Amino acid sequence: MRYRVLRPPYCYRWAVLLSALVVAVTATVSMFHSAEGAPSPAPVAAAQAMAEAPAAAPEPAGLVRHTARTGKFVALTFDDGPDPVYTPQILDALSRAGAVATFCMIGANVTRHPELVRAVLAHGMRLCDHTVSHDEDLDKRTEQRVTAEIAGCWSDLQVAADADVPVSYFRAPGGSWSDVMREVTAREGMKPLSWSVDSRDWTLPGTAQIVTTVQQTVQPGAVVLLHDGGGKRAQTVEALGVLLPWLVAQGYQFDVPG
Ligand SMILES: [Zn+2]
Repeated sequence: MRYRVLRPPYCYRWAVLLSALVVAVTATVSMFHSAEGAPSPAPVAAAQAMAEAPAAAPEPAGLVRHTARTGKFVALTFDDGPDPVYTPQILDALSRAGAVATFCMIGANVTRHPELVRAVLAHGMRLCDHTVSHDEDLDKRTEQRVTAEIAGCWSDLQVAADADVPVSYFRAPGGSWSDVMREVTAREGMKPLSWSVDSRDWTLPGTAQIVTTVQQTVQPGAVVLLHDGGGKRAQTVEALGVLLPWLVAQGYQFDVPG
């Protein structure tokens, strides 16, 4: 009889305790979920702004995504080369338009094709460090590894050029930056280079789409992301054949990132 009297309240207490536990766990889990989602207020826009491999985290402030000069200037940048097929074609197109551009090179490709580094320099173009191996998880690596990738590419460029050449910029693979990467970039005397216009040529959307994307998003001071390496770039080369004369006709002049 006593049990019958005592039992219900104990059961009730346990039920209350368990319910409280469930509520607490649920609240904690949902808190974590919103914390993950919170940093990116517009995930779609952020993914479109990021280029090569859309990164989850927003880009930090202070990255270079504007031309050096103000006015109707545009800075074209070419990533992931040098490439023996496409880099020379792009250099020809740029020369015909009297355009300067910045080439963000991968050390491994630089070592394979040092003559292309010299060709890029001979055409009056600028060099940008894009790491030795294009590790897109470099933002998760240690300072030692980050230094090896960034300083290593810088050295590869010097050796390939067979001269002391200025390398003014570093661009993160996939646009994914860490504080360590920014510290090493500054220590190595380079500017952290981003972009303001993603041509999305890396998605191979077709020549016409690359042209349209740039035409619709370019504005004075834009830094445009394009690729001369890392895959088949015939669409990029063809798009340039349209875009370069179009930019000139629009009154744009070519500049380096500032
Ligand atoms: Zn890249």
